[in-house]
Amino acid sequence: MNKALFLDRDGVINVNHGYVYRTSDFDFMQGIFDLVQRANAQGYKVIVVTNQSGIGRGMYTESDFEALSVWMLCEFTKRGAIIDDVLFCPHHPEAKLPEYKKMCECRKPKAGMLKTAASKHNICLANSMMVGDKLSDVEAAIEAGLREVVWFNPEFIEPTQTSTAEFQAKSLSCKLTSIKRSHSLWTIITA
Ligand SMILES: [Mg+2]
Ligand SMILES: [Zn+2]
Repeated sequence: MNKALFLDRDGVINVNHGYVYRTSDFDFMQGIFDLVQRANAQGYKVIVVTNQSGIGRGMYTESDFEALSVWMLCEFTKRGAIIDDVLFCPHHPEAKLPEYKKMCECRKPKAGMLKTAASKHNICLANSMMVGDKLSDVEAAIEAGLREVVWFNPEFIEPTQTSTAEFQAKSLSCKLTSIKRSHSLWTIITA
């Protein structure tokens, strides 16, 4: 079976300017190309899992998102870094467009996208890791049973300040590390 590095997009791959859908607003985070290169070299599949409620809110379309993703993957490839797949959730419980308005299983903190990726790419979740910038990323990683989650957490919020007892209990099997600076991203993958 494969192991994977799951990456959130906004705030991890690119600076989160809020509902980014144009290449001109897509600023790569420092260290992200190095991180993906290292993950490739260590045999990880690299898979993006991103909430994109801007689609359901009618701010941009699925084809806008897909065009941006094609461009993003190309920018990685140019630098010798391979992203294997991009999964996204276009839904939101309060979405403006009726076809996207629902409580789905894919929107993080639910683990639907990670589970879908696992069956599609034959991934062992218990041997996989994730990098995210929100508590919902950490929760999805724990829900999916990942080995390790790295919280890129510039405000350095302690998980104990924000999370429930249930979260604390579930998180015991998952190593949680907080990092504060984007340039330390590339040091995440050591083995
Ligand atoms: Mg994010
Ligand atoms: Zn969804």
